[in-house]
Amino acid sequence: MQTRRGDDPRTTPPEPALRVIMRRLREIMAEPDSGQARLDKIVRQIAGLMVAEVCSIYIKRQDGSLELFATEGLNPEAVHNTRLKRGEGLVGRCAELGVPVNEPDAQNHPAFSYRPETGEEIYHSLLAVPIQRGGLLLGVLVVQNRTPRVYSEEDVEVLQATTMIIAEHLVSGAVAGIAVESDISRSLSAVIKAEPISDGIALGHIVLHEPRVVVTELLSENPDLELERLEAALDKLGQTLDEMLRHETLSKAGAHKDVLEAYRMFAADKGWMQRIRDGVKEGLTAEAAVERVHNLTRARMLRQNDPFWRERLRDLDDLSDRLLRILAGRTSAAKDAALPNDTILVARTMGPAELLDYDREKLRGLIIEDGSGQSHVAIVARALGIAAVAQAGSVIERVATGDSAIVDATSGEIHLRPSAEVVAAYSDKVRFLARRQRRYEALRERPAATKDGARIELNINAGLLADLPHLTESGADGIGLFRTELQFMISNTLPRLEQQTRIYRQVLDGAVGKRVVFRTLDIGSDKALPYLRHPSEDNPALGWRAIRIALDRPALLRMQTRALLAAAADRELSLMIPMVTAATEIASAKRLIHRELAIQRRRTQTPPSRLRIGAMIEVPSIIYELDALLPMVDFVSVGSNDLLQFLFAADRTNPRVAHRYDSLSVPALRAMKAVVDACTRYGVPVTLCGEMAGRPLEAMALIAIGFRSLSMAPASIGPVKTMILSLNAGRLQKQMAEWLTSATGSLREHLRRFAEGEGVELS
Ligand code: PEP
Ligand code: MG
Repeated sequence: MQTRRGDDPRTTPPEPALRVIMRRLREIMAEPDSGQARLDKIVRQIAGLMVAEVCSIYIKRQDGSLELFATEGLNPEAVHNTRLKRGEGLVGRCAELGVPVNEPDAQNHPAFSYRPETGEEIYHSLLAVPIQRGGLLLGVLVVQNRTPRVYSEEDVEVLQATTMIIAEHLVSGAVAGIAVESDISRSLSAVIKAEPISDGIALGHIVLHEPRVVVTELLSENPDLELERLEAALDKLGQTLDEMLRHETLSKAGAHKDVLEAYRMFAADKGWMQRIRDGVKEGLTAEAAVERVHNLTRARMLRQNDPFWRERLRDLDDLSDRLLRILAGRTSAAKDAALPNDTILVARTMGPAELLDYDREKLRGLIIEDGSGQSHVAIVARALGIAAVAQAGSVIERVATGDSAIVDATSGEIHLRPSAEVVAAYSDKVRFLARRQRRYEALRERPAATKDGARIELNINAGLLADLPHLTESGADGIGLFRTELQFMISNTLPRLEQQTRIYRQVLDGAVGKRVVFRTLDIGSDKALPYLRHPSEDNPALGWRAIRIALDRPALLRMQTRALLAAAADRELSLMIPMVTAATEIASAKRLIHRELAIQRRRTQTPPSRLRIGAMIEVPSIIYELDALLPMVDFVSVGSNDLLQFLFAADRTNPRVAHRYDSLSVPALRAMKAVVDACTRYGVPVTLCGEMAGRPLEAMALIAIGFRSLSMAPASIGPVKTMILSLNAGRLQKQMAEWLTSATGSLREHLRRFAEGEGVELS
């Protein structure tokens, strides 16, 4: 692009166009003018500096139309009179897509919209750039020229930087008659549909897990100093990402892997960093330069038809956000800030350890943009009793910290900034749920037996000391799954022997004689211990996890066993080994456990009164080796979350595939029935502790294939017990046997109809 300057370019290096424009804009902003007058000056300046015959600003109105607010070159009468309907013309298209539109022959473009009042028929080329702030569209900045031309990349960049200043001006409230769209849309009520992952209803206030940094300072006084800040921030970004890469902290694998890939991609594209540096050299603050290059790159990616690039958009957003947070000196997440007592946490992605970092007393709800109900963060949310939803598309753009919100994890609806009526309706609903909860509490002492007398043992899943009160509150028979890794995940260092012993003792004490099944460390996949190194893996769910780590690094299992044996002194101890794939693994694990028992005896410490060792059935291969496995174990527990993900080859944490296959389909039920049947033949107690046990319809099906023991989230005990008390197990069992021989696909509808016909309560 050209700039109109008096200097002779042969004697003085030309001042970068962007810097000239920035300087002029800064001067305009410093003058004591009205908001409208400033917009008028801006368009005059840009037109002059860009040698454009026309420069106009359109502002988005509440109905989505674009109103001409200022112009240099078009008929001045058109200002505040010309309105483009939503999506109308090339300007509307720019606004809708949120990307620059660069047209050498605009009038012959099929999307061109001719407005006679503007007098624009003589202009051929058009460059329109969206005015955005914090991801929201505020308007469009347009330049036009008579001669057909394609505007250069530099022209686009200059306009983009100008739009940042205009956006800042608009949100400052200086321009009369403008209620900025961001304020409007962020103040209006909205409902977003999401997928429930942890039951309940939460009324509270939003806290962003990783708050977005809003860039307010755009122009720097000292580009050299600014460049130093930027370089330091880029260095730090590189270091933190390298660190993540080195440690491969798997708890955050889902979130970080994509960012790392994006980083590699953008870092490899030297242009990305260079463009940010150029922005700073031209007079932008480091933050503004990051934001501008982010907007540009985003626009370029949006233009690609290739879905690969569209999927990388979020990673780009994440990467830019990280860099902005570093620049703002805000590296820690929201957890360090004071949380309101009714926090509803909003995150793009989240691992279980990150959720555990928050003060659970203050958490009411959780909203995740990605994620799935089978992921471990969902399990932790259920354990903490937080209403949670996932798959909440673009929620982050639509909320600000402090907004009121309701998470309805019964229907999957998120109400943002709800009206007083909605709040009142939900308060009623919460009271209703509390009444239902009281009804469940009334069932607490009642044994879970079907109408035809089948006694079903109901246990809870737990993992934290804070879960223990649930055992008595729910009236469950025991703890069917104590996920020991959760204690390890909330610790900053590997818990030492004494510390582990103390915790396990507290668990057994708290269980007051009820059985507790301790699962040995199930780490790997999406559960990582930040202090333990873990190799990088392409498929962590199929990788080095659970018993595989335990057998390769026996010191961990030995220490844990030692702590459990010591804690159990003179009480029964049940140990359960996760992810058993081959019977030989159980043989090895048992040898190791018995060696610890022998050591304990030698030390004349009191051994457990009884030691039970069980295996989790989570990998399909072991179903074909039950004849070898069952004689070796005292009990088995089906981990249906993993078993079904492996059976259907569908990653439980990937929302695209996690729900593709039904846990109530014939192949799933046949596989689980094969386990129950084999256990009956060998007289080995069998239970199921995956999430499906806690859903009444699923629990009903499990009883029909022979399960007489289930373990679930504490909040599910009431609903499942209610179902059991109204079920005739014998009749369903007969029906199920028929379906399993003749039906195909999902039995969900069959089961629903059975429940309806028989009056089985599926609350
Ligand atoms: C399971 O896989 O079903 C299970 C109970 O274990 P986790 O969900 O902890 O992997
Ligand atoms: Mg599992």
